[in-house]
Amino acid sequence: MSASIINGKELAHDIRQNMKEEVSQLIINEGVTPHLTVIIVGDNPASKSYVRGKQKASNETGISSDVIEFPSSITEEKLLQVIQELNKDPKVHGILVQLPLPDHIREEHVIVTIDPAKDVDGFHPMNIGRMMTGEDTFFPCTPYGIITMLKSKNIRIEGKHAVIIGRSNIVGKPVGQLLLNENATVTYCHSRTEKLMDHTTRADIIIAAIGQPNVITMDYLKQGAIVIDVGINRLQDGSLTGDVDFDNVKQKASYLTPVPKGVGPMTITMLLKNTIKAAKGLSKQ
Ligand code: NAD
Repeated sequence: MSASIINGKELAHDIRQNMKEEVSQLIINEGVTPHLTVIIVGDNPASKSYVRGKQKASNETGISSDVIEFPSSITEEKLLQVIQELNKDPKVHGILVQLPLPDHIREEHVIVTIDPAKDVDGFHPMNIGRMMTGEDTFFPCTPYGIITMLKSKNIRIEGKHAVIIGRSNIVGKPVGQLLLNENATVTYCHSRTEKLMDHTTRADIIIAAIGQPNVITMDYLKQGAIVIDVGINRLQDGSLTGDVDFDNVKQKASYLTPVPKGVGPMTITMLLKNTIKAAKGLSKQ
């Protein structure tokens, strides 16, 4: 048996087609053009590439966007001041500060300064709290994309045992929470977990968010498990690969996401979804 591949690029394309219509209706009926402002600090090439991708995807969907660039020497105080001005600007619906930030700027101060109603990354503690209590809010984009991928294949989440490998604030922890909200039984594994394989081989759904190339092989899963590969690892030859040994795991999993064309395009799509939601003011209801 070979796993069905969940193609995130195709799914993202379909969702974005529908979003185009949603955006044009918003413009015609409400006179509101959703607007996303992205702030980037410093010269990190990977960050610059992510920001270009976000801006391109926004514009293709009819969402307007702008990018504010600062040198890495910007002070935390100045950055927070810019965010406060954007919070007050009625034309700006979504604010995203590209992470990571230089060491002298405290990420938690930046995140908490963004108005929760414009927090389209879903990282503000208020939105994280809402997610935890099961309210509608801006869900963090990568976890939201993962849930959307599972649902697109009508994969039953309720009652299933999901094992998350990784406990970061942007992927591991929130994806576990969203799966719990969908009534999965959730186990978190991480770098200090003993006997990782004992956990993963009992999983119906495995989410690999480790950041190490090809570490998850078929030995880590039971027959027919669903495997979502979040990892993006650049190899020495410049190619991208996930945390999952794709060709090997494909032989044992029932569903599998590739890298590239997997979770990545879905992350950007959920950012657009959150921006439209912010423009509609849904988060304030
Ligand atoms: P992170 O470095 O913050 O977290 C990695 C997690 O993996 C940690 O919680 C750590 O405890 C765990 N871990 C490390 N080694 C382990 C091991 N041997 N066994 C078990 N657990 C182990 O990374 P992150 O920000 O959560 O990102 C994870 C990966 O996902 C990275 O490759 C990143 O590039 C990628 N990512 C992809 C997207 C996307 O849109 N596809 C979005 C965000 C992150």
